[in-house]
Amino acid sequence: MASPESRRSSACAPADSFASQRARMVETQIRARDVHDPQVLAAMAKVPREAFVPELTRELAYDDSPLPIGCDQTISQPFIVAVMIEALQLEGGERVLEIGTGSGYAAAVLAQIAGEVVTIERIAALADRARATLAALGIVNVEVGQGDGSRGCPAHAPFDAIVVAAGGPRVPDSLKAQLTIGGRLVMPVGTDQLSQKLLRITRAPDGHYAHEHLTDVRFVPLIGAEGWGATPDEPTAERR
Ligand code: SAH
Repeated sequence: MASPESRRSSACAPADSFASQRARMVETQIRARDVHDPQVLAAMAKVPREAFVPELTRELAYDDSPLPIGCDQTISQPFIVAVMIEALQLEGGERVLEIGTGSGYAAAVLAQIAGEVVTIERIAALADRARATLAALGIVNVEVGQGDGSRGCPAHAPFDAIVVAAGGPRVPDSLKAQLTIGGRLVMPVGTDQLSQKLLRITRAPDGHYAHEHLTDVRFVPLIGAEGWGATPDEPTAERR
């Protein structure tokens, strides 16, 4: 329900309407569901999600759901973005790798906390659009690369944190190897493409990787050399 104030502002000033919807999203969808990291809440309160969804669905930008962004892909539900970023346990200033740029929204949220974000998107049209959106918002600490991110980004490694926004059949060895000691990798993993377990993998000083199961999720597939094959139902295949 819109408050009298937000109803008034939506009639006269759409930007204010989005701001009040964003504030409400943080309270009702995120804080109310036990995401309490103040940096995550502040970042979600700041980034205009409406800038990352197609013009026609802009009014739905603060819905409690994923939304289509073209190319058969989606911008994740705000709550899931918050859960995944909180799970990275960022303190501020870190170097973060995101696989699956999509709209660029999660990268923009990460950029409010991290020092530097590298994000890789497989689909060139999405990478180009995300780059343009981030530039239009003046977000300068995100680098968008295009290609198969299932192998990570060795040129920029190591990373303090890695987040994968697409579901793979297993945790790619390449990503684990690109973590700093103590670094965290958060990724949906599942052996079918319909549901995954959200895992956090932490690299210990002795070379061991600790695994934690955080929750159950449903993501679009991670397609690539260390993900799924390019056609649906095809088991993991080497590509490129
Ligand atoms: N974080 C995004 C949502 C990601 S949807 C946002 O905030 O909008 C998942 C994205 O992962 C899709 O855009 C898909 O094209 C991309 N993807 C799938 N496999 C990939 C791979 N191997 N490397 C990079 N991106 C990949």
